[in-house]
Amino acid sequence: MRVRVLGSAAGGGFPQWNCACPNCAGVRSQDPAFEARTQDSLAVSGDGERWLLLNASPDILRQIEATPVLWPRSGRQTPIAAIALSNGDLDHCLGLLNLREAEPVAIYTTASVRDGLRTHNAFLRTLERHEHHASFREIGAAPVAVTSPSQQALGLTLQAVPVPGKLPIHLRGQRQASEWDNVALVVREATRDRTLLYVPGIAHDFDGLADLLDEADCVFFDATFWSEHELIEQGLGQARACDMAHWPLSGPAGSLALLNARRKDGRFLTHVNNTNPILRRGSPEHTAVERAGLVVARDGLEVLL
Ligand SMILES: [Zn+2]
Repeated sequence: MRVRVLGSAAGGGFPQWNCACPNCAGVRSQDPAFEARTQDSLAVSGDGERWLLLNASPDILRQIEATPVLWPRSGRQTPIAAIALSNGDLDHCLGLLNLREAEPVAIYTTASVRDGLRTHNAFLRTLERHEHHASFREIGAAPVAVTSPSQQALGLTLQAVPVPGKLPIHLRGQRQASEWDNVALVVREATRDRTLLYVPGIAHDFDGLADLLDEADCVFFDATFWSEHELIEQGLGQARACDMAHWPLSGPAGSLALLNARRKDGRFLTHVNNTNPILRRGSPEHTAVERAGLVVARDGLEVLL
């Protein structure tokens, strides 16, 4: 299985257009300790020809142009065979609207995420230009084989695992939350028994997470915030990490402690918010992450499993 990081920043990207925090200012001043990042998404392939995207970020067009394996081969065509969403946050699905030029798209979501996208959402009808344009396919607890819009198998299966999270902002007050609103995506390459675990958003630990980590050959994990009060301390807002359903890395109950305890090769941090001090190479926080055997994902990074 080939895994390519299309983007590794949290919503807003790095730098974020309306942010002058020390990290964002560092990127703009070309400080070599910082590297710009687009919003988080992975591309996965079993055969290197047909690709499954995990999340469709608002930066998707830039990400495709930066990734030659995702370029069309001839005429009107795309190697992007399917797209899976970990939740319905706009940061993870706005890119779908950029893929509306009539190429058929297969979209894998839980039923809850699909309903959140399709109900009262007139914009999404731009993906219904012709009868076989967008096909939504349901994922849940049982693995399903991933196929292209024309039903060609990719040699990959997809499974969703409910993860503590929250409703997308635009659905608050519109409907009840479900445990299937926010999921981890498990991608398996059956023939080679390789497993990728993608968890770009997680509010806190839960029963079964340690097993999921142990079973995966490669993990991309939520690293939105270093600390609970990061935005408040930097004078950038009143929201705590827990208010935004992101589990901070630091502290005795932080995710870094768990990831360090289940240490294994192939552990990457993604969905990194622009305020997170791990983005500064050489910072104490970046060093702590490296000591725990973790790599901060960079756009364009490729992993072979
Ligand atoms: Zn910033």
